Amino acid sequence: MIIDLTHIKDEEEISLAHEYDPKHEELEFVDYRYTTGITLEGTALRQNDSVSVTGVIKWTCVITCSRCVKEFNSSVDEHFDFSYDVYDKKQIDITNDVREQVIFLHEQQYLCRPDCKGLCPTCGNNLNTGQCTCSHNEIRENKFSQLKEILHDKKKEK
Ligand SMILES: [Zn+2]
Ligand SMILES: [Zn+2]
Repeated sequence: MIIDLTHIKDEEEISLAHEYDPKHEELEFVDYRYTTGITLEGTALRQNDSVSVTGVIKWTCVITCSRCVKEFNSSVDEHFDFSYDVYDKKQIDITNDVREQVIFLHEQQYLCRPDCKGLCPTCGNNLNTGQCTCSHNEIRENKFSQLKEILHDKKKEK
């Protein structure tokens, strides 16, 4: 979003509204599907040779849990505060700062719930909905009982 400074007088505040398309701003993430555009609402205040741009950016999205791959709805509503030195400038472009803010708000890992148990590495069963039959503990117990049987059989042979 480009702000034209030629119409903003000193000590004047103008209101801003813009909608970014995440596709056109290289703001798509693999675990993230936007259900709205990125909307921006705010104000730009000029004071001498500086302009402060403040407001909120908002969007809604569908996120994929990184453990169980379940999709869940989420939304972001974040305040931003940028300031620019506008000496000798006729316009400012705030797009890069908005982009950085959106990237900053994208988390390293998203979980559908903090204690998500994820998927069984053997059968792919969602462990949040119940244990599968190929639990590693059970395998260990089976081997142990087989070993006990072998020892038992050997004793009988004697
Ligand atoms: Zn999950
Ligand atoms: Zn399993």
